[in-house]
Amino acid sequence: MAKSCLVSRTQTVPREDPFLSSYRLLGKELGRGKFAVVRKCVELGSGKEYAAKFLRKRRKGEDCRSNIINEIAILEMARFSPYVVDLHEVYETNNEIILVMEYAAGGEIFEQCVADQDEAFTEKDVVRLIRQILQGVLHLHTCNVVHLDLKPQNILLTSSNPLGDIRIVDFGLSRRVDTIKEVREILGTPEYVAPEVLNYEPISTATDMWSVGVLAYVMLTGVSPFQGETKQETFLNISQVNIQYGQEDFEGISDLAIDFIKSLLIKNPRKRIRADQCLKHPWLSSPIESEPLEEATIEKKESEVEAPEVTEELVLLASY
Ligand code: ADP
Ligand code: MG
Repeated sequence: MAKSCLVSRTQTVPREDPFLSSYRLLGKELGRGKFAVVRKCVELGSGKEYAAKFLRKRRKGEDCRSNIINEIAILEMARFSPYVVDLHEVYETNNEIILVMEYAAGGEIFEQCVADQDEAFTEKDVVRLIRQILQGVLHLHTCNVVHLDLKPQNILLTSSNPLGDIRIVDFGLSRRVDTIKEVREILGTPEYVAPEVLNYEPISTATDMWSVGVLAYVMLTGVSPFQGETKQETFLNISQVNIQYGQEDFEGISDLAIDFIKSLLIKNPRKRIRADQCLKHPWLSSPIESEPLEEATIEKKESEVEAPEVTEELVLLASY
């Protein structure tokens, strides 16, 4: 990882006293990545529940502290959006950094994306949730931050039944737009990455907008639009924007929804609509289905969040 791409200044000072003196771990893991484990915990003083993300500082023999600091710094930059997970505090030990975050009790939207029809999102739900995602993303972009790993596993819900509000998590790949130099070292999850990432072309806020298009597609249909049998096939599908708006998957879904997705899943990043333009798209701007815009912009949050690591094999891509 090119360290020069990372933001190295944080306001949060990590605590060095034992985490377990102030928190008790609860139940099983909430999630796990290659270098991080997320666990539910309760703060002993307040009785409040949090999600603690334990990030290893050394990964494959390399010191990755600066990546974690970048993640914390990005969360601090994004702290004023209610749709970005709140960072409560940070601990540091010899081997790990612990991000104590707001607990999103509804879990990943991924679960509802792949659920049976009766538990799946309705189009009306998707309109409300995509609006919130866009308000969060607009906030990030206004702060010159790109998330670069927007996918159903990184969009959480405050509650699932009744359906709550969204929280964007996992800023492990996030960057300040003006610090991105080594594009080829940053790559998200194959199914959700934009063509410019695969082609080593410049990354920008438009890269996140592609992912919003994929998210809307998955949330409405339960189908991942570019997923192939193999990673190569997936990459090829993305590069060629090989996408169907088939009758079967889109049965009962409005033409406006399809039009919205089509305005994002465009190969040329400059032709994709921006987050602010998305919010004005007729699919989302109908007063019946949406909530007031102000809601996203007023609230303040105390802190930010978390997340882990990166990189996928780019070797495969060399063959294109
Ligand atoms: P990774 O980098 O390993 O993907 P994430 O930050 O995405 O780490 O966290 C992994 C998983 O843990 C998430 O996909 C989610 O299921 C769960 N998780 C993360 N943060 C929270 C949170 N604040 N509240 C509840 N669950 C969380
Ligand atoms: Mg994640």
